[in-house]
Amino acid sequence: MAPNPLAPHWLVVPDDANALSPELWSRTVTRSSGELTVGGVGVGELQSRYGTPLYVVDELHARERAAEVRDAFTTAFARVGSAAKVYYAGKAFLSIEIARWMTEAGLNIDVCSGGELAVALAADVDPGRLGFHGNNKSVGEIDRAVSVGVGAIVIDSVQEIERVAEAAARHGRVQRVRLRVNSGVHAHTHAFLATAHEDQKFGIALGDAADAVARIRSNPGLDFVGLHCHIGSQIFGSDGFAESAARLLAVHAELLAEGPVPELNLGGGFGIAYTTSDDPSPIGELADRIADVVAAGCATLDIPVPVVAFEPGRAIIGTAGFTLYTVGTTKDVLVSTGDEGVTAVRRYVSVDGGMSDNARPALYGADYAVRIADRVSDAQPELVRVAGKHCESGDIVVDADYLPGDVRPGDLLAVPVTGAYCWSLASNYNYLGRPPVVAVRDGASRVIVRGETEADLLARDAGFREGASA
Ligand SMILES: *Cc1c(COP(=O)(O)O)cnc(C)c1O
Repeated sequence: MAPNPLAPHWLVVPDDANALSPELWSRTVTRSSGELTVGGVGVGELQSRYGTPLYVVDELHARERAAEVRDAFTTAFARVGSAAKVYYAGKAFLSIEIARWMTEAGLNIDVCSGGELAVALAADVDPGRLGFHGNNKSVGEIDRAVSVGVGAIVIDSVQEIERVAEAAARHGRVQRVRLRVNSGVHAHTHAFLATAHEDQKFGIALGDAADAVARIRSNPGLDFVGLHCHIGSQIFGSDGFAESAARLLAVHAELLAEGPVPELNLGGGFGIAYTTSDDPSPIGELADRIADVVAAGCATLDIPVPVVAFEPGRAIIGTAGFTLYTVGTTKDVLVSTGDEGVTAVRRYVSVDGGMSDNARPALYGADYAVRIADRVSDAQPELVRVAGKHCESGDIVVDADYLPGDVRPGDLLAVPVTGAYCWSLASNYNYLGRPPVVAVRDGASRVIVRGETEADLLARDAGFREGASA
């Protein structure tokens, strides 16, 4: 079949628009008599029990993937005579249940606000296994983090050195701290940009690190653990990590001359496939390459290989989740292709959620894929754009994919790879309640975060309370 001229160049017309590309779906997803099932539960049952839109998380996948990512780094660094620590970046998707899955898989957890810290503590995560990030932590957030004994605070500015030291003094603690530096390396998918200084808000310039570390070390309430950097997100290869590791190690070696530097934190950002055109390197390959680069760099500098920490978020939880929607309307829109006098039809398929449950297309131009979830069809594939229900033309869930041409109101659609940065970025735009999160495993489903009701939405409105009877 000829591609629709409106389709992006990377999108291939599928032989079968019902097929599930394994890299996009969590590991327990299959089709059974046409219906998509996950964790042994059919999507029809999920729809009738919980409604749509619905965030569905494959618990087994999330747990296994967390262990797999942890093992990839620990094995790679054991091979070069050192060790690795893996922090799950909670901002990707954090709930009490997910925090438990991560710690049970042997991971530590990164938080970057008082709210994320509260969730981790409510999940009974050992505070010693928490890292606390942020370029503008409040004095109150720092105080709480120090008082509960978080494992490390990532200092992001010179002002924060004093703030953390004061909190440590108040609580009579010695606080372990890392120092985030701006390595000048920024990476995304296949490209990375290396400059002397990146124009961004995080960290302090690499050239200022020695002074900042001297100030940290001069403070008896602070214990310097090492340097930290995070170079971007959705990174497919290892070159950006290699470059930032080399830059940090040079400074790390200088710091070793004045005192211990047990660890180096290279951050997160490991990419995943959102569509079949994405080809991220497997996490084991990335871990091996980074371990080799770090070991070689340390050999050249004649220093021991430090413990290296990583902070993957998306690479752990992204593929564990998909979102279920119900189709409400379809519309064929005649569009000029840009070639003189040539038009083509784009089919808009509107669903019952949208940019409030997945902001990434609107925020980053992110691409997603889509499948009809409750049936298969041998109708010819048609190019579709899945739109949400918000009063906003940029409210797109899936910019372009092919679905069977008989897609119609009432169909259940599943959009894969919504486990990271969808629920956590969700909003109440247009007063839509945020959908529930359901975990499935071994033939059973359960709500791990309940959805919002209209009562929830009205509850914070002071006008509503005034009118309510006492
Ligand atoms: C966002 C973030 C991460 C996680 O990024 P992913 O792309 O989800 O792996 C890790 N570390 C820091 C400091 C971050 O800001």
